[in-house]
Amino acid sequence: MRRDIFSADHELFREQFRRFAEKEIAPRIEEWNARGMSDRETWRRAGAEGFLGANAPAEYGGAGADFLYDAIVMEEMAWLRAHGMMISLHSDICMPYVTTYGSEEQKRKYLPGAIKGEILLGIAMTEPGTGSDLANVKTKAIRQGDHYVLNGAKTFISNGQIGDLFIVVAKTDPAASPPHKGVSLLLVEADSPGFVRGRKLDKLGLRGQDTSELAFEDCIVPASNLLGKEGQGFKMLMEKLQQERLCIAVASIVSCRRALEDTIAYVKERRAFGQPIAAFQNTQFKLAELATEVEVGQAFVDKLLAAHVRGDQIVKEVSMAKWWTTDLQKRLTSECVQLHGGYGFMHEYPIATDYADAAVQTIYAGTNEIMKVIIARQMGLG
Ligand SMILES: Cc1cc2nc3c(=O)[nH]c(=O)nc-3n(C[C@H](O)[C@H](O)[C@H](O)COP(=O)(O)OP(=O)(O)OC[C@H]3O[C@@H](n4cnc5c(N)ncnc54)[C@H](O)[C@@H]3O)c2cc1C
Repeated sequence: MRRDIFSADHELFREQFRRFAEKEIAPRIEEWNARGMSDRETWRRAGAEGFLGANAPAEYGGAGADFLYDAIVMEEMAWLRAHGMMISLHSDICMPYVTTYGSEEQKRKYLPGAIKGEILLGIAMTEPGTGSDLANVKTKAIRQGDHYVLNGAKTFISNGQIGDLFIVVAKTDPAASPPHKGVSLLLVEADSPGFVRGRKLDKLGLRGQDTSELAFEDCIVPASNLLGKEGQGFKMLMEKLQQERLCIAVASIVSCRRALEDTIAYVKERRAFGQPIAAFQNTQFKLAELATEVEVGQAFVDKLLAAHVRGDQIVKEVSMAKWWTTDLQKRLTSECVQLHGGYGFMHEYPIATDYADAAVQTIYAGTNEIMKVIIARQMGLG
């Protein structure tokens, strides 16, 4: 079905990005998957072509374009299964913290490099003992004169090995009550004294993407690298998580579409009992049901994209989309593996990796259970 949220200019941009991605990204996916991380050169090329931070203000080198341009990049990357290079994490999840809350000095220092793909970004919220309960992070940033002394450990941090600048969630007031009032955000450069990159973690899926441990051992961070004000960190996170969750939903629906398309092609080819397995009513009904759900999900995501571009507050609806689309992705990839039979379990068929990659979608960017907690709260239930 024709989608009506994109203009002719958006579609032109999609064509440009697709050409770039086919030439510069697609040939590298296998290598990233084997190595467990992307490469800096491709990031720089994407930056040079204007594909990083399309949404970022023009005065710092961005295109100042609307968020639909970023969504197009996300969609094309998801279609290619290029999960190793998390452009949306860099451009749409991390960069907006700097563009929205950064001081003029911070913006001038970090945005041009980030937009050019020279300063790669990450966000360090999760700790070994604290994931969903973000207000209870234990990492501390204690002010001493003109700097903070940062101590603590983070885990599961995307871009942990390749990243240059991390938005670190830390307590500047560990005794604050309620605890979220003690949370602040710091911009921490990876070459700061006391910044330690830990293990690159061995994951079930998203094999091409680097997810790592980080540690801060009396790490010195200039006071000027505080983002916004002390104690405002939790509020900033809540404000920005709307876009993060929308990004997941956008990519999730595309991943569903890709897995479905490949499965449709497979069932037309594969034969059993003298006929293509596409001829069995079970196959037809399963795929018809899944295709219906993908269309329903796409319509919802497109409505949210339009609302987000308008600047609407859609925390509840975005939380709905995050859990629903990723839940669908998990079910859909599982059904598609089944329709591939034994070949669905073999890595030579992309559906096997689709299945593994889907598993994390319901976990990160806030688990699907936390999405339901948020929705219920917005419905006035507790
Ligand atoms: C590949 C990958 C990449 C990641 N990238 C990043 C990153 O770049 N930066 C970052 O900071 N983090 C990142 N994460 C971490 C991710 O955001 C957390 O794993 C996630 O928030 C869940 O936290 P947790 O793992 O501690 O699970 P827990 O919080 O321990 O949750 C365990 C289970 O309990 C459930 N649960 C918890 N609280 C409630 C509740 N109130 N009601 C009902 N159920 C509840 C959860 O839903 C879940 O099912 C990444 C994780 C992965 C796997």
